[in-house]
Amino acid sequence: MDADFDDLKSRLAEHDDLKHAAALLRWDQATYMPEGGNAARGRQLATLERIAHARLTDPELARLLDKVTPAAEREGDASFAARLVRVARKDVERATRVPAAFVGDFVNLRAELYDRWTRARPANDFAAVAPLLARNVEMSREYAGFFAPFDHVADPLIDLMDPDVKTASIRALFAELRGALVPLVEAITRAAPADESCLHRQYPEADQLAVGSEIASRFGYDWTRGRQDKTHHPFMTKFSLGDVRITTRVRTDDLSEALFSTLHEAGHALYEQSIDRSFEATPLAEGTSSGVHESQSRLWENQVGRSLPFWRGQYPKLQAAFPAQLGDVSLDTFYRAINRVKRSLIRTAADEVTYGLHVIMRFDFELELLEGSLAVADLPEAWRARATSDLGVTPPDDRDGCLQDVHWFDGPVGGAFQSYALGNLMSAQFFDAALRAHPSLPAEIEAGHFDTLRTWLVTNIHVHGRARTPDELVLGATGSPLSTEPYLRYLRTKYGALYGL
Ligand code: ZN
Repeated sequence: MDADFDDLKSRLAEHDDLKHAAALLRWDQATYMPEGGNAARGRQLATLERIAHARLTDPELARLLDKVTPAAEREGDASFAARLVRVARKDVERATRVPAAFVGDFVNLRAELYDRWTRARPANDFAAVAPLLARNVEMSREYAGFFAPFDHVADPLIDLMDPDVKTASIRALFAELRGALVPLVEAITRAAPADESCLHRQYPEADQLAVGSEIASRFGYDWTRGRQDKTHHPFMTKFSLGDVRITTRVRTDDLSEALFSTLHEAGHALYEQSIDRSFEATPLAEGTSSGVHESQSRLWENQVGRSLPFWRGQYPKLQAAFPAQLGDVSLDTFYRAINRVKRSLIRTAADEVTYGLHVIMRFDFELELLEGSLAVADLPEAWRARATSDLGVTPPDDRDGCLQDVHWFDGPVGGAFQSYALGNLMSAQFFDAALRAHPSLPAEIEAGHFDTLRTWLVTNIHVHGRARTPDELVLGATGSPLSTEPYLRYLRTKYGALYGL
C-alpha cells in the first residue's frame, strides 16, 4: 500500500506541477508579457495542457487508484488517503471520459472564438462571432454527452465549477432570489439615488495601491507568500500554497475600482493561503468549488469591506490618505456612495442588489442555448428583452449586451455564471454563522481586528481545501444546507436602512 500510495502521490504531484506551470504562463500573459508573445504563449499553454491531460489519463494512474482504494477506505471516509483518492478519482474519470481529440478540438475552437471576440466586442459585431459561438454551444452539449446519463444537459458543465450542484437545485434557488430581487430593486430605485461623486475625484495610482495593500495585510493576506500586480481583468492565481498572487486594475478617476477588486482578490487569496499545507502538490490543495471561492471573495469585499462597522474604523485612515479628495466628505456620504444601487448594463460593475439579476439571466440563457430552445442568432434580441424586463435598462448595442462577458467566448457555454450568485448566497450564510459563533465580530471589525473572523473561516472552510465538498462545507460550517434566506435578509436589512424602505 505505502509504495503504491507514494507512487500515486508523485504522479499526482507531477500533474499538479504541469497545471501550475501553465498558471504561471497565464499570469505572465495577463500582467507583463509583451503583445509579441501571444502566439507562442498560446501554443505553450496548449502543449502543457496536452501533457497534463495525458498524465491524468495514463492507465497506470487509474490502476494505482484502484489498487490503493480499499486501504484508503479502511482509514476512514474523513482520512487524508480516502479524500485524496476520492478527489483524484473524480479528476481522472472526468479526464478519461472525454476523448483526447475532442479536448484538442474544443481548446482550439475556443482559442479562435476568443481571438475573434476580442475584436468583435469593441466593433459591436455579433455576427462575427455568431457561427463560432453556435459551434461552442454544440461542442458544450457534446462535452456534456460524455457524462450521460444526466438530469439536465448543463449538469456536467456546472459540475466542472461547482461539483455535485445540479441545475434543478440552482433553478429553485434562483427563482427565489429573482422573485425577491426584482421588487427590491424596484423599491430602491424609486428612492433618491446616492451621490457617488466623491469616488470620482482624482486619486493617484500609488496611493490607491498603498491603501489596498494595507487593508489586504490587515485582513491577513501574507505577502511573503504572495504579491500584487496590475492587469486588465483582476484575478487571483496560485502556483503553490506558498505563492498565491493577486492582481488589480487602477483607475485614477474611480476610487472603488482598485480598492474593491483588491479586497475581492485578497478574499480569494486568503482561502488558498490557508489550505492545509500537508495537501501541497495534491489535488486537495485547492478551493473546493467556484461558488465557495466566490463566497470568500465576496465576504471580504462586501460583508466586511462595504459594511458600516468596517468604514467607521477605516474611513479616518482613508481620509488621511486622500485629504484633498475626501477631507470634506462625511462617512455617511462615502458609505452611501460605495453602496449605491443603480440599474446598469454591465455585470462586473453592478452593485450587490442588482448583481444577482445579471447572473440569473445569463444562467437561464445558458440552459436555453444548451436545450436548443434559444438559437445563437436570437441571443442579442433575447438579451435586450430580458435586460429590459429584469434590469430595467436596455442595452443600446451588443457590446454592452450579449458580447460583454468573456465566459462564453473562451470557455464552455454552461456552468459559467452560477458560481457568482451561489457565492453571494454562501457569503451571507457563512458570515451569519460566524456572527452566531462570535457576536463581537462587528465591534472587532470596527476596531480593525479581523483575526476572529479569519480564524473562523480558516477552521470551517479554508483548511479543508477540496477534502470537503461544497455541500459538506456549507452544512458543516452553518448547520443548514444552502439557502437564499441569509442573503436576502442581509440585503433587506442593509439596503432597507440605506434607502429608507
Ligand atoms: Zn471572484
